[in-house]
Amino acid sequence: LIKNIRYASGIVKSPVGTISPIPNQNLVEYLYSDMDEHIEEPATTCAVSGRSYTYGFLRMLINRCAQALLGHCGLKQGDVIGLLLPNIPEYIIVCHGAMEAGIVVTFVNPLYTPDEIRRQFENAGVKMIVTVPLLLEVATTVGPQLPGYKSTLCIGAEDDLANNVHGLESLLKAGHESEIQGINPRELALLPYSSGTTGLPKGVMLSHYNLVANLVQVDHDAFRNLTANDGSRHKVLTVLPYFHIYGFNSIMNLILKSGGHLLSIPRFTPEDYIKALVEYRPTFLFVVPSLLLFLASHPLVTKEHLASIEAIQSGAAPLSEGQIQKFREKVGRDDILIRQGYGMTESSPVTFIMPRITPPSKIGTIGVPVPGTEAKIISLTNGETMGTHESGELLVRGPQIMMGYLNNEQATAETIDEEGWLHTGDVAYYDEDAYFYIVDRCKELIKVKGNQVSPTELENLLMEIDGVGDAAVVGIPDSLAGEVPRAFVVLKPGATVTEEDIHRSINSKVTHYKKLVGGVRFIAAIPRNPSGKILRNELRVLC
Ligand code: AMP
Repeated sequence: LIKNIRYASGIVKSPVGTISPIPNQNLVEYLYSDMDEHIEEPATTCAVSGRSYTYGFLRMLINRCAQALLGHCGLKQGDVIGLLLPNIPEYIIVCHGAMEAGIVVTFVNPLYTPDEIRRQFENAGVKMIVTVPLLLEVATTVGPQLPGYKSTLCIGAEDDLANNVHGLESLLKAGHESEIQGINPRELALLPYSSGTTGLPKGVMLSHYNLVANLVQVDHDAFRNLTANDGSRHKVLTVLPYFHIYGFNSIMNLILKSGGHLLSIPRFTPEDYIKALVEYRPTFLFVVPSLLLFLASHPLVTKEHLASIEAIQSGAAPLSEGQIQKFREKVGRDDILIRQGYGMTESSPVTFIMPRITPPSKIGTIGVPVPGTEAKIISLTNGETMGTHESGELLVRGPQIMMGYLNNEQATAETIDEEGWLHTGDVAYYDEDAYFYIVDRCKELIKVKGNQVSPTELENLLMEIDGVGDAAVVGIPDSLAGEVPRAFVVLKPGATVTEEDIHRSINSKVTHYKKLVGGVRFIAAIPRNPSGKILRNELRVLC
């Protein structure tokens, strides 16, 4: 009876309790507020080069960076900087330095093509690109094409004032002083890009408050996992990119807040990852399902390599029971806590996690709403609120939901309704204990190894090819990547474009995981509804 009353309204609240107060602090103040306890401890280490920073040193450099960006580099509160960086310890110095100064951060995959970088940075209004020597040429080519561009900041390079490049190290050494004004936590802090439920990638406006709220929500007794079995703080190995909200807030920020030791690898290779496992003996791994599958099935990975692991957190894409089983067979023990969470860029990102003690019967669950999050399921046909065990679109509401999409009121209104519900575009149901299960997706998004691929972006590029009359892209299942994009193409009469021509053109314009690995199919017409919307389900049937 109690359960029936709880869901009478169709709104499911977190069964683990209410949210703790959200501190009125900006992200950087919040993250380092308990730092005194572990000031001499390592905060982050590059597991390939061994470069390492203690909490005390890191915090000092963050502050110096904030002052230099505002003073010497001429940026001001509200300006946007674009990070074109792999996962390296200095990412944190620049990113948190900017945020401490009230400068907004956007980031891209460093393997993006110059066009992809320019499109996002132009949309975000980037005034400075931060990069490393390997990508400096790309940065100094793209940067000056951006309106109002000021300068480039390069980590690990000398100043090159003729080309308007600051070296980070000289900037930090010089001790540039400037006054840092207080920041209103409700101001914009981060601009990650996401295509949401439809269309092209859009700037997701996340405030300091959104990001802090999500860290507070996750830091609850039911989910918290801060210390290793021997009582020390976790050593966390991650290759998941800091340029995705999962790597940024749920890994980097969460671990720094908890005083853990963050071990990063700039670029995933099996050899570097295994070397890091052996050398640093991490206790906690953050993964996406394809990485767990790699650990479970790659012949180079042995169970001895994984002997130090006590906990694994997976997110960003569905994790199957079969994948977990395969991993447990590899390690030959079942004392590793393997949990799944669910989130979106638009929700900073976490809305659901499996509690530490989740009944084994809840196979495939994404867990329960985190405190302060409300969830409901609505019918895909008539929008009515559904009850337990009824599938429909998942809607979520809470303090971690974005402020909106940058300069895109229409997309914002289509995604967050008047009552504040974020329409996730995922199909889910829940059980009588408030455990949720994702069963499908009703949005356009394709996820390749946890990375977003926008069908619209690929369709626009296909339409640029001479001879292509119409095009549509859908995701098809792939055992390793989860999904891969497949194109359906209609040629103009008389056109002689081949599949190879299409691959060549697309491959030159997009990063590796957006390539049409699912192939190209030529068809007579793209199925569309009367208003022109592509009927993707009909195409999926053709797959
Ligand atoms: P992103 O904004 O890149 O984090 O992508 C968000 C989308 O990833 C969600 O709307 C889901 O479609 C998918 N996703 C994230 N976590 C999970 C999960 N645990 N299970 C299934 N899908 C997930």
